Amino acid sequence: MTRNRISRPARRTFLRSAIVLPAVVLGRRRALAQSTIMAPTPSCVDKGAPTLSQTAGPFFKPRSPERASLLEPNMRGTRIVVTGAVLSTRCRPIPGVLLDFWQADDQGRYDNTAFRLRGHQFADDQGRYRLETIVPGLYTGRTRHIHVRVQAPNQTVLTTQLYFPDEPGNRSDFIFRPELVMAVRDESGAKAGAFTFVLDV
Ligand code: FE
Repeated sequence: MTRNRISRPARRTFLRSAIVLPAVVLGRRRALAQSTIMAPTPSCVDKGAPTLSQTAGPFFKPRSPERASLLEPNMRGTRIVVTGAVLSTRCRPIPGVLLDFWQADDQGRYDNTAFRLRGHQFADDQGRYRLETIVPGLYTGRTRHIHVRVQAPNQTVLTTQLYFPDEPGNRSDFIFRPELVMAVRDESGAKAGAFTFVLDV
């Protein structure tokens, strides 16, 4: 039975690697899973130019509730999670930035009496934000968009809008700017958007 004759140290090494290897693979899988959940690490590629400012339009309301999710029970529309970071023009994350979002519902209507689909939040200590909402509907004269006011501590407010890629209305909306289009991908029935704001600070 020479084939079973493995020296003790060699056998121990083999057994140890048989145990360690799956742990390494599992660890990698876990890291991969976490990286897909976390907001992307801010990148300086093509960044450095301040994010364009845009009109607030007629539907901004001050004093929105603080909440990262604008979702409410029975809210209709395709879910979207928008993540990203707020950077300075030197590509440094800005912690504690106020981001105030407002948008139309899936029928293209704004809530001007209460705060449906309105909410503000603060970027974390790495300048990251995460918004849970629905894809806004269309209304006359505008392509699909989400409004946002972005304000670093003790700095002026940047008012702008985020757009969706491949929208037919992007071609005819004179307010639309391609620099403000989010990266959007489908993710199991919902959507994931990403956008990095650059503030002139
Ligand atoms: Fe609007």
